[in-house]
Amino acid sequence: MGNLRIMIIGGGIGGLCLAHGLRRAGVTVTVHERTEARTDWLQGYRIHINPHGGRALRDCLPPGNWTAFLGTVSPDDAGFGFTTEHLDDLLRFDAAEITGEHHGVSRIKLREVLLSGLDPVVRHGREFVRYENRGAEVVAHFADGSTDTADVLIGADGANSRVRAQLLPHARRADTGIVAIAGKHRLDGAALPRVLTDDVNLVVPARRGSLFTAIWRGEDPYILWGYSEQAAALPPLDDADLRALVLERTTGWAPPLRDLVAGSDPSSVNALRIRSATPVKPWPTSRVTLLGDAIHNMTPMAGVGANTALRDADLLRRKLTEVTAGRADLLPALHDYEQEMINYGFAAVRLSLRNARQGASTSRLARTAFRTTLRTISAVPPFRRRMAAQFGQ
Ligand SMILES: Cc1cc2nc3c(=O)[nH]c(=O)nc-3n(C[C@H](O)[C@H](O)[C@H](O)COP(=O)(O)OP(=O)(O)OC[C@H]3O[C@@H](n4cnc5c(N)ncnc54)[C@H](O)[C@@H]3O)c2cc1C
Repeated sequence: MGNLRIMIIGGGIGGLCLAHGLRRAGVTVTVHERTEARTDWLQGYRIHINPHGGRALRDCLPPGNWTAFLGTVSPDDAGFGFTTEHLDDLLRFDAAEITGEHHGVSRIKLREVLLSGLDPVVRHGREFVRYENRGAEVVAHFADGSTDTADVLIGADGANSRVRAQLLPHARRADTGIVAIAGKHRLDGAALPRVLTDDVNLVVPARRGSLFTAIWRGEDPYILWGYSEQAAALPPLDDADLRALVLERTTGWAPPLRDLVAGSDPSSVNALRIRSATPVKPWPTSRVTLLGDAIHNMTPMAGVGANTALRDADLLRRKLTEVTAGRADLLPALHDYEQEMINYGFAAVRLSLRNARQGASTSRLARTAFRTTLRTISAVPPFRRRMAAQFGQ
C-alpha cells in the first residue's frame, strides 16, 4: 500500500518523534497541535531518557536532530540510592553498576529538537474535537471548524486525549489519591552532601511520605525534588504554601534534605494530583489508534512515561513503514502494534503505580518490609545485580 496518509493529533514528545520517523521513511504525515508553545510548569523540568527512549529518538530523528539532541543533554551518569529520612543508605548503586545509556534533557530543549525540521508538517493552533470514519478514510474535525482527512489517525494527544475518549469511551484515568509536590533547588554553590548532588535518590522514611531527588547538570544546574503523600493526610493545597507544607511533613528529617526544600525558589514549587490509566482490554483494530499518555498515562514515579511514548512512536513507525513498503497490510500491522504496545505500556503503568503506592503508603508495616527488602538486596550480590539491571532499562 503506497502513499499512506497519516494524521497525528498532538505534537508532544511521542507525536513529534513519530512524525520524524515517518517523514524519513517517505510517508506523508501531518501533525495537528493545539498550542503554539507549551507553557505549563512541567516544561521547566528535566526529563530522564532511558535506553528505550534514546533508541527510539536515534532511530526516528534525522541525523542532524539526533546530534542536536546529544548536544543538549546532560550526561545522566548518576548512581541511584534509597535512603532513610536520616540519609542512611538502605541500598545504593553507583553509576557503573547501572547499565545502558541514560540522558537528562530539559523538556524545552527536547521539544525544540523534536520540532526542528517539521515546519512543513506541524499545524499549530489546531485543536482536535472529534473524528469521523468515512469508509477507508478518517476525517478529523477541529475547533476552528476546519477538517483534515487521512488514511490513519493517531491520537498522540496526551493524558486527557479526546481521541481516546471517542475511540475507547470506557478507558479511564483513575485518581490514585496521591499528591506529589515538586520543586527545584538551584545549585549555586549551596553546600549539600555528595549523594544529593551526584545521585538520584528515593528517601523512604519510617512514617509517611517519600522524597525523590534528581540532579540536572545542564545549563543552570539544579536538584529536582518531589515529595509525595496520600492527599487525604494533607490540608487543602489550593492556597497552601507548598514549601512550608513539605517542611512541616519532613520535620525531624536529616537537615540537608530539609535544606534542599527550604532553599528552593517558591515559584518553582508545584503540586500534582497523581492519576493512572486503568487497564484496557484489546479493542477491535481500526484506522484510528493511540500512542503515549493518550492510552497508557502513568504516574511519574518510574520516570518512564515519555520513554514509553517514544517507544510507541518507534514501533508504530516500523509497522507503518512495512505497510507503505508493501510488506504488510494496514489493519494487521496496526493490530500488531496495539498488542505489543498494550503489553509493555501497561506493564509500565503497573510499575509506576506500584512505585507511587509504595512511596505514599501509610502502613508502617509495609514501610518496614520495604526498607528491610532494600537492605537485603544491598547485601546479596545476585539480588543487587538483578535490580541494577532493571534500573538500566
Ligand atoms: C512531574 C513529571 C515528571 C516526569 N518525568 C518523566 C521522566 O523523567 N521520564 C519520562 O519518561 N517521563 C516522565 N514523565 C511523563 C511524560 O511527561 C509523559 O509521559 C510524556 O510527556 C507523554 O508524551 P506524549 O507525547 O504521549 O504526550 P504529551 O507530551 O503530553 O503531548 C501531547 C500533545 O497533545 C497536544 N494536545 C492535547 N489535546 C489536543 C487536542 N485536542 N488537539 C490537538 N492537540 C492536542 C498537547 O498540547 C501536547 O502537545 C513525567 C511526568 C510528570 C508529570
